Amino acid sequence: MKILNLALSRSTVDRAAHIRADESALELEWQVAKIIHFNGTGFLTSGISLTLLTAEQIEGSGQKIFLGQHDGASYFLWCSEQSIGSDEGYKTLREISAELTSLEIGLAVHGQAVALWHHKNPICPNCGSVTEPFAGGSSRRCATGHEHYPRTDPAIIVLVKDKSDRILLGRQAVWPEHRFSTFAGFVEAGESFEQCVVREVLEEAGVRVSDINYLGSQPWPFPQSLMIAFEATIQDPENARPDGEEIVEIRWFDRNELYASITEGTLLLPPSISVARAMIQAWYGEDRPPLPGAETWRL
Ligand SMILES: [Zn+2]
Repeated sequence: MKILNLALSRSTVDRAAHIRADESALELEWQVAKIIHFNGTGFLTSGISLTLLTAEQIEGSGQKIFLGQHDGASYFLWCSEQSIGSDEGYKTLREISAELTSLEIGLAVHGQAVALWHHKNPICPNCGSVTEPFAGGSSRRCATGHEHYPRTDPAIIVLVKDKSDRILLGRQAVWPEHRFSTFAGFVEAGESFEQCVVREVLEEAGVRVSDINYLGSQPWPFPQSLMIAFEATIQDPENARPDGEEIVEIRWFDRNELYASITEGTLLLPPSISVARAMIQAWYGEDRPPLPGAETWRL
């Protein structure tokens, strides 16, 4: 299986990190920049596109975050709770991410991840004093000089297969009825990705995987995850069983069973922008029509 095509990994923005450290260059770029606005929840949009503002349209208190350059233009995020225009112009990343261009995805995914990190990190964990953004909003620093950088939480996600090329999907108790997905979990301290894959599948489905292959990765800024995708095989599919706590039901599918279950309404796949959906579609067949399915999010 080749590396997956993932909806939120399509960025075409040059982060232009060399500009971050130059305060006067940043100020000059701001004056001619294209600026997107995030109000802590959603982005200002026009239809299905991000609205691009100019510096003259920005007022009130907020934070400038340099996102990079594309086609000779500099892009910033303006982050403030105060809406520009009507509140109805704001849409969440989940609502619009499937429609955005690769440039817009690069801006919105980076912007949301870093803005949410700033919001949660006003205090220096080293010394307890207040931190302030610096280097174009790419990091924070306290008065003592401790520097802090945006955090990303790695989580593995794995497509479990058997020797007959069936896939195993599980259902969490908190999900909508009939929603099944691949197995996933956060990497624990001191753990490798591969160890995490083995542990998560063993915990949730009771079986030990082997032949672990990397399939790609996707930022998931809800609020600060990075999904690292793998496929893996188990030798004893008959021993798979749900853990009864996080996973309440598991099902094996071949391609015909998967399609039939979707059309008869007993299987609801995860949303199209998720890694899980991309892995299932890639296994089903990249050149076959997209699998049907509603876009119901986890409650
Ligand atoms: Zn400090």
